[in-house]
Amino acid sequence: MIEPIPVNEPLLNGKEKQYLNECIDDGWISSEGPFVKRFEVEFAARVGRQHGIAVCNGSVAIDAAIVALGIGAGDEVILPTFTIISCAAAIVRAGAIPVVVDCDSLTWNMDVGQIEAKITPKTKAIMVVHIYGLPVDMEAVLELAQKYGLYIIEDAAEMHGQTYKGQPCGSFGDISTFSFYPNKHITTGEGGMIVTNDDTLAEKCRGLRNLCFQPKQRFIHEELGWNFRMTNLQAALGVAQLERLDEFVIRKRRMGEKYTELLANIPGLQFPLIHTEYADNIYWVYGLVLNDDVPFDASEAMKRLAEYKIGTRPFFWPMHEQPVFHKMGLLQGESHPVSERMARRGFYIPSGMALRDEQMERVADILLEVMK
Ligand SMILES: *Cc1c(COP(=O)(O)O)cnc(C)c1O
Repeated sequence: MIEPIPVNEPLLNGKEKQYLNECIDDGWISSEGPFVKRFEVEFAARVGRQHGIAVCNGSVAIDAAIVALGIGAGDEVILPTFTIISCAAAIVRAGAIPVVVDCDSLTWNMDVGQIEAKITPKTKAIMVVHIYGLPVDMEAVLELAQKYGLYIIEDAAEMHGQTYKGQPCGSFGDISTFSFYPNKHITTGEGGMIVTNDDTLAEKCRGLRNLCFQPKQRFIHEELGWNFRMTNLQAALGVAQLERLDEFVIRKRRMGEKYTELLANIPGLQFPLIHTEYADNIYWVYGLVLNDDVPFDASEAMKRLAEYKIGTRPFFWPMHEQPVFHKMGLLQGESHPVSERMARRGFYIPSGMALRDEQMERVADILLEVMK
């Protein structure tokens, strides 16, 4: 019997149990518990921001961010087509229009050179999404935002502990968001965080997270919010995980470097960049793209790896190729060839925090077999 290698496994061997026990001993399990505030303060400080607003996942963090910025009907938001559905979904749910750009074939991040041509009088914001371990080239985006008076929404879900030119990812947006899903660098099971320096935006997000209850007349509502609250149990995990973020980033960088060494002699594969001029990769996941001369696509490669019980995931499927948006009359008839190719030829291999050296070695041996 060969032991399966899951695509992700978190590492929960710090103070997670101790802090969870405290919650249970004290009876604090709801969002009113003390770990929530503590996680917000400590996480915001880590990213160098004034405010942290903990929410129940990274997707709703984006929903709240868009609504807090007042983006709605008729407004346009520019984002990468190569991203998770959460980004475009939040725009569409707010009644706004997603406008997409292609990605770069090496960094897999939005091609910032394509943004300016997409700006119209209706454009309200650029939604930056740092993909798979390397940050977007922020300087170019910041310049455009300044020049045209646009907000920046920064989805830093995959970027805990990453920097762009030495400045923390998550510190660039008017509003920035994180996820703590178990495959992120730190996890709370499910969870997310909104960070910002703007007092008004922070207040709005706190309201939106909590059904827009009013401080004085709790059950009289001026606006509609959601219940997006994070529990004290989740926050307890978050505080314990945050204590180890530096160690986790080092661990992931080692993992990335080891994979790159182990896989170097396998033909037909494009690897993640080790670094760009503005950041070293933190390998949220270790992605691979099949070269054009490989006679099969990512789904075939993943199927073959599954026969050896190696867990994989496909790359994101571009927003302009999503049936759900086409049915709404959005993003139809567009062509973004880099993202289209990556969706078909890209996948990632086991790269969770708990991954061990011998598991990476087996993945490499089997990949060599599969690529022959
Ligand atoms: C994981 C992720 C999200 C969504 O976070 P959830 O907590 O799973 O809702 C959003 N954006 C990006 C880029 C992500 O990687």
